[in-house]
Amino acid sequence: MRLSRFFLPILRETPKEAEIVSHRLMLRAGLVRQMSAGMYAWLPLGHIVLRKIEQIVREEQARAGAVELLMPTLQSADLWRESGRYDGYGKEMLRIQDRHERDMLYGPTNEEMITDIVRRDIKSYKDLPFTLYHIQWKFRDEIRPRFGVMRGREFLMKDAYSFDLSEEAARISYQKQFVAYLRTFGRMGLKAVPMKADPGPIGGDLSHEFIILADTGESEVFCHRDLVDMDIPGEDTDFDGDLSDIVAGRTSLYAATDEMHEPERFEAEVPEDKRLTARGIEVGHIFYFGTKYSEPMKAAVQGPEGSEVLLHGGSYGVGVSRLMGAIIEASHDDDGIIWPDAVAPFHVGLINLKSGDDATDAACDDVYAKLTNAGLDVLYDDRDERAGGKFATMDVIGLPWQLVIGPRGLKNGTVELKRRATGEKEELTIDTALNKLIG
Ligand code: ATP
Ligand code: MG
Repeated sequence: MRLSRFFLPILRETPKEAEIVSHRLMLRAGLVRQMSAGMYAWLPLGHIVLRKIEQIVREEQARAGAVELLMPTLQSADLWRESGRYDGYGKEMLRIQDRHERDMLYGPTNEEMITDIVRRDIKSYKDLPFTLYHIQWKFRDEIRPRFGVMRGREFLMKDAYSFDLSEEAARISYQKQFVAYLRTFGRMGLKAVPMKADPGPIGGDLSHEFIILADTGESEVFCHRDLVDMDIPGEDTDFDGDLSDIVAGRTSLYAATDEMHEPERFEAEVPEDKRLTARGIEVGHIFYFGTKYSEPMKAAVQGPEGSEVLLHGGSYGVGVSRLMGAIIEASHDDDGIIWPDAVAPFHVGLINLKSGDDATDAACDDVYAKLTNAGLDVLYDDRDERAGGKFATMDVIGLPWQLVIGPRGLKNGTVELKRRATGEKEELTIDTALNKLIG
C-alpha cells in the first residue's frame, strides 16, 4: 500500500479528551475517530487490525470445534419477554420501535436469539453437542463510555454459545472455550489470566473472566503470580481429548476479580511473595448458565430415554474491539504503538527518504515490489515529506519493521533496517535486508 493513496490522518498533538495511553495512541495513529459518545469509526489502519484480531479469534474457535454463523444486530423484544430479561435489563438496552410500532432492540448479547434458532430445528440428543458463535456488533448504552474502544457503547464481540445434554457434558464444552481463550490471547502477545468470576444465579465454578494485567484496567484483581507467566497450550492441543489438566493447572491457583475475592483464602493459599494485587482489563468472559434460557424458552430435545431434556447452555464472550486497546496498553513506548507481529496492520514500513529522486524512487519501487510479491504487507511511505515526519509517523503506527532507503546509503549500496520493538538498527545491503524480511 502506498501511503500517498492511503487514508492515515496522524495527530501530532496529544488529544486532550483521551485519558489512557491506548486511547491517545489510537487517535494519534489514525486508527479510530469518535462519531458520538462511545461510538467509533474504524479508519483503514484500525480496520485492518480489527480484522486481524477477528481472524485469530476465528482460527482458535475453529480449532476448538465451534462453528460460525451470523445473527442480526436488531432483535425482537418478544424473545426477551419470553426469557424474562426484557424488563430487567434496564437502560443499557437500546430500545427501538419499527414503523409498525413493534418493539425492537439493538442486541447487547444473543442468548435469546441463539436459543430461538436452536430450538426450532434441534429435536434429538443425537444432534448434540455443538457450539455456535458469531462476531457481531453489540450496543450497550453504558452510563459512562470511556477509554475509547475499551468501554464503548457500540463494540464488536465474539460470542459463542454451547448446547449440551447435561451439566457434565457442558463442562467439556466450557473447557474447550477456556483453552481456546488461552491460545487466542497468547497469539496476540497477551498474557491473559483466567480469574474466578461471579457465576450469577446458577452458582458453581464455571465462570471465568480473562484478564490482561494493566495499570489502566477497570477491574481490581488478586492472583497467584505464577499464573501470569504460564505457557500457552500449543498448536497440537487435542481439543477432542481431555483438557481438564490444562484447565486445572490454571484454576487450582488463586485468581479472582474483586467481586469474588476472598481475602482470607488469598492469604492462606498464596505464599506472601507470590501474592499479586493488580488492575486488569477484562478481554473475555465465559460461563455456564445451565437451563436459564432453555427453560422459559422451551428449548428441549428428546433424550436417550425418550423423555424431553432441556438444553444446558454456556456463553463465551471476547471483546474483539476492546482487545485493540488492551494490546496497545500492553505494547507501546513513548514514540507510539508496538504491534505484535500477529496483529500488525502491515509487516514492514518502507520509508523513501527522498521522494522525487530518481535513483531512490527506483530502489524503493523495486524493494516494494519484491516484498509485496513475497507476500508481505508493506506500507510504503512514498510521500514528498520531511524525513523526520516520516520517521515519527512510522514510530507512532508501530509496524514491526522499518526499512529506510535514501540517496546517501544507496551510494554505498546500503539501506537501514529497524526493529520497532527494540529500536535496533542495522545497515545492510538491499539483498540482505530483503532476505531478512522475507526469511
Ligand atoms: P464489563 O464487566 O467490562 O462491563 P461485561 O461483563 O458486561 O463486561 P460480557 O457481557 O461478559 O461483559 O461481554 C463479553 C466481553 O465483551 C467482555 O469480556 C468485554 O471484553 C467485552 N465488553 C463488554 N462490554 C464492553 C464495552 N462496553 N465496550 C467494549 N467491550 C466490551
Ligand atoms: Mg464480565
